Amino acid sequence: EKYTREDILQMAEEEDVEFIRLQFTDMFGTMKNIAVPFSKLEKAMDNQCVIDASSMEGFYRNEEEDMYLHPDLNTFCILPWRPQQGKVARFICDIYKADGTPYRESPRYILQETVRKAKEKGYTFMVNPECEFFLFHTDDNGMPTTVTHEQAGYMDLSPVDLGENARRDIVLTLEEMGYDVESSHHEIAPGQQEIDFTMSDVQETADKLMTFKVAVRTISKRHGLHATFMPKPKEEVNGSGMHINMVLYKDGKNIFEDENDILGLSREAYAFIAGILEHIKGMTAIFNPLVNSYKRLVPGFEAPSEITWSSGQRTALIKVPSRRQREKEIELRSPDPSANPYLVFALCLAAGIDGIERNLEIPEELTKSIRSMSEEEKNSQGIDSLPENLSDALYELEKDVWLKEILGTAFFEHYKKAKKKEWKSYMKQVSDWELEQYLYQI
Ligand code: GLN
Ligand code: MG
Ligand code: MG
Ligand code: MG
Repeated sequence: EKYTREDILQMAEEEDVEFIRLQFTDMFGTMKNIAVPFSKLEKAMDNQCVIDASSMEGFYRNEEEDMYLHPDLNTFCILPWRPQQGKVARFICDIYKADGTPYRESPRYILQETVRKAKEKGYTFMVNPECEFFLFHTDDNGMPTTVTHEQAGYMDLSPVDLGENARRDIVLTLEEMGYDVESSHHEIAPGQQEIDFTMSDVQETADKLMTFKVAVRTISKRHGLHATFMPKPKEEVNGSGMHINMVLYKDGKNIFEDENDILGLSREAYAFIAGILEHIKGMTAIFNPLVNSYKRLVPGFEAPSEITWSSGQRTALIKVPSRRQREKEIELRSPDPSANPYLVFALCLAAGIDGIERNLEIPEELTKSIRSMSEEEKNSQGIDSLPENLSDALYELEKDVWLKEILGTAFFEHYKKAKKKEWKSYMKQVSDWELEQYLYQI
């Protein structure tokens, strides 16, 4: 444990903390919080702070019971972007029911359970996400636009890179908060940025990703820019992905490595990949949760649309390191930054272990550009596609009963219901595209 109760009381007092935010993440990956004054810090640490979840989206209750927030003391942190006079600190919380049992639909709980089961089998899971996002200008009313005045491209340097200052400030702030940022760079599209984390424990990383998004938005705003994690804000350029690099350890050893293999990968590594490929269609509704997510997963923008793995093809769904690369990590490239990181990590871990336990066979490696292949060629090689839209993804989610076990039946049903509603609301729209195509012609 990082902090004791006494440490926190002392830190809060010394730093003159006035408010404490009790944060948690809902089903859809949105961070929520309540703020309590310093005088309630002990009450909060006694797990006595209550939320009325009935009016909260993604929370469903049968009885009239309140939910209790249990702060994770290790997540105590003073928010550096809040005033230095009368500081604001935060905890990330677990959610408990009035009867003292954990609320099973909490995404953090779903991840904790998956990690606990893996640990029983001797596994530790480490991840390193690459989160992409756009920085756009706001209009005269302060509303976000999709306008960027810069023309910088991949890894360009200033002065062309207008986002540079904002990104620098973001990275410095994250470091102040104890983050270890691996690297940050300008992405391919104008206004697009990427910040990469270092490999670390999966729950810690999910917590960090949630805080990261708040930090990015807050600090960008200070620079007069709007940060968005929307997967595909502009049709004509790359969307934003959240590639996940993964390593599985057993007894302190990276079990993806095998010197004697042609790619340097172990039997477990291949089975882990096979497990992810086995469940990828069903998991897509979680990895790519928005109507908009599917507009990113199309050919031509470096995002995957087919179910493939490769050591050489950069745009494969799963990218494995070449023989030369010493660090053996597996990179999953379909998730986007609108996904709930607790759920993404839980499913990656569970699917990979399922592959290992069932000793699943990995399909052929993709060794040439998928775009050079005809439909017939893909079919003959058994290359399948990711779901093409949210509706198809929900259908696949429903079909994979294994997922219900990992997510829990209640979560599974509530998620599906909410997402179906989202799809229906989208489908009712009459879009500009339709008007352009049909209004005159038909
Ligand atoms: N933006 C791309 C995606 O949608 C990835 C580009 C890259 O990192 N090479 O996944
Ligand atoms: Mg990258
Ligand atoms: Mg990238
Ligand atoms: Mg990548």
